[in-house]
Amino acid sequence: MGVMTESTGTSATDSGHYDNVACPFCGILCDDLAISRTAGGLKVTKNGCDKAKAGFERAVASTGPQIAGKPATLSEAVAAAAKLVKSAELPIFGGLGTDVEGMRAVMSIADNAGGVVDHALSEGQYRNFRVLQSGGWVMTTLTEARNRADLFVIVGSDIHQLHPRFFERIVCNERSMFSDNPPKRTVVFLGEGLDQSAAKSTRIGDVITIPAKGERIGEIMVALRAMAKGGAISGDTIGGMPRAQIEDLLARCQKASYGVMVWAPPSLSFPNADLTVQATSEFIKDINQTSRFAGLSLGGNEGAVSAGAVCAWQSGYPLRVSFASGKPHYDTERFAMASLLANKQSDLLVWVASYTPGLSPPDCDVPMVVLGTPGLALSRTPAVYIPVGTPGVDHAGLIVRCDNVVSLPLRNLGRSTLPRAADVLAQIEAAL
Ligand code: SF4
Repeated sequence: MGVMTESTGTSATDSGHYDNVACPFCGILCDDLAISRTAGGLKVTKNGCDKAKAGFERAVASTGPQIAGKPATLSEAVAAAAKLVKSAELPIFGGLGTDVEGMRAVMSIADNAGGVVDHALSEGQYRNFRVLQSGGWVMTTLTEARNRADLFVIVGSDIHQLHPRFFERIVCNERSMFSDNPPKRTVVFLGEGLDQSAAKSTRIGDVITIPAKGERIGEIMVALRAMAKGGAISGDTIGGMPRAQIEDLLARCQKASYGVMVWAPPSLSFPNADLTVQATSEFIKDINQTSRFAGLSLGGNEGAVSAGAVCAWQSGYPLRVSFASGKPHYDTERFAMASLLANKQSDLLVWVASYTPGLSPPDCDVPMVVLGTPGLALSRTPAVYIPVGTPGVDHAGLIVRCDNVVSLPLRNLGRSTLPRAADVLAQIEAAL
């Protein structure tokens, strides 16, 4: 490996083959991919799931900046975007599919322009944030779970669909940090219609299915908590499931030497799902008095964890922050992007989506400035469009993993020379 160049992060002796590449296309950030760059584009040669292949191998069209759908130079597009941001009463900086540097730039321009920041996937994140803010929790990390857990309870979440290599890397590993022959582990799928196809390996012993409806899982957690404390629960069913199944789940939790409850907030998409996260977290806290148990929240796709982390470092609050008054103002309802747009309280949407073409801006009637990966699906022509690179593919970067404890460096694989969202945002801010 040669010397890294500051401007691009590529190696001066770049061979076009990269090992141990971190993948930014979902929140678990697998860091063991092998990728080659060929004349036909990037090719994942080892360890990529379909989602990773779609992300890395996607060819990006050579589009340039546009103003009202017409080609423009970058400096013209930047000037037009700055004019719109400057004249807006309350611009929203949304989407926020970017890396740590991109999010720092978002915070800076939002502060300068008096705007609101909110991530496209923050509705799911808030199912966690509300619990963390109100009662706290006991959480573990991907590494701890991989090396120590003997019981995984998958809580109402289609983990395999959202994070295709979670089971392969964290649950099915044949060896752990502490043993070449660790004991088998049990996997419980608590939820209806969850994809269990990846829970197959010599490492896995029992696989238990409790097909409860998502909105009744909170009820089951509350019952588990009560039964663990010796409380009486009447009835033949609990949360719609046979009582014996729930009693068996409790016994397995109590017997586990290191149990982990895993959920992905985007999967818990029913009303008041934060209460399910809360009930799960409270059960985990209780059972820790007699056993070792922890939660593990996944999610974090499209740079959502980086966005929440940077916003918290810099403003003290995790997204849904307004700088309109000149200082950070936090309100989870008032400054939710969807509600601001629905109530026509914003007059400009600045949308950042640098990872996948599916992170489209919401339907709305305000002008849009879009900093997007080429091919981003748009239902109408934005006032200004500036194509930007994908962190970890087109330029180097840094991203925060779903368990919040690790920031991973992303490499420039040289797919294109598209600019970083961070640099474009800084240029727009400089032109305000
Ligand atoms: S599971 Fe997620 S991080 Fe891992 S390779 Fe697939 S998309 Fe990338």
